Amino acid sequence: MTDDNSGFHDEFGKIDLALTRESPYGTIAEPTYSGVTSFMRRRYTKVLDGVDVAVTGVPFDLATTSRPGTRLGPRAIRAASTMLAWDKAWGWDTDPFDALNVIDYGDCVFDPGRPESISAALESHFTRLLDADVATLMLGGDHFCTYPALKAHTQKHGPLALVHFDAHSDTWRAANSRIDHGTMFFHALEEGLVDRKHSVQVGIRTNNPDTHGLRILDADWVNEHTTQAVVEAIRSQVGEAPCYLTFDIDCLDPAFAPGTGTPVVGGLDTGRARRILRGLSGINVYGMDIMEVSPPYDVSEITALAAASISLDLLALYATRNAGT
Ligand code: MN
Ligand code: MN
Repeated sequence: MTDDNSGFHDEFGKIDLALTRESPYGTIAEPTYSGVTSFMRRRYTKVLDGVDVAVTGVPFDLATTSRPGTRLGPRAIRAASTMLAWDKAWGWDTDPFDALNVIDYGDCVFDPGRPESISAALESHFTRLLDADVATLMLGGDHFCTYPALKAHTQKHGPLALVHFDAHSDTWRAANSRIDHGTMFFHALEEGLVDRKHSVQVGIRTNNPDTHGLRILDADWVNEHTTQAVVEAIRSQVGEAPCYLTFDIDCLDPAFAPGTGTPVVGGLDTGRARRILRGLSGINVYGMDIMEVSPPYDVSEITALAAASISLDLLALYATRNAGT
């Protein structure tokens, strides 16, 4: 065993970085298969002093219209992230953990025995973090959870453009207050939470004649164009607008993300999605999430690893944001 400058890894000298790391910054190797599991081996803490981004799980899957299991998503993404945590973020000029103080804040607490209280519990979880001037990366959870998170974000920042990766529009009309993981953006639009002029949906491949005036780059269009063209189309729509980036893992093709509740064939591959995210460097991101990972349907942790990798990209994207400029 030698020091880091020798070209050898001394990865057996460190353990439980979630509890023992001395600095919130930087990348330190720890055995991938061992130790306390936090997202990317960041500090697992409720202390928010000096924190830039809190990664937080929302283990909720009671608003799905199909197969459940996303309540197990946050834990699976954390576990898969340990396979990435030894290395700097590949493909980015700036590593998010050099630029940002990122913690794992743990999961949102709510009472499944009081379902009517859950939306408010989720919203106040995010409000608490945002009130401390901490940005959030949510690990879902079904996609409904983006609704209370977005509400909390718009309370602080005003309406936000949605940069929405998904096989589904999630804007299907719903009567009255009825809400699930396919209708929450209908409600968000109705309530003025979304800056629709600067919003874009990417990877859509299910029918909803009602676009609500949103720009849609459907999966066929994305798959038939270059990454550069996709990036330019998204950037021209979003511009400098403050935005919330929400990534439903079913945007990816089921070959790349089988572990999800409502898979739809004909989607993006993981590498492509990551290149698109890298191309969005500098957009004005205020909040992020990765949703709909359902480990019971996963195979060889493919989906959890894709979600962990995309989560890392979202943090890197946040590190490059142009907020306030
Ligand atoms: Mn979806
Ligand atoms: Mn969705």
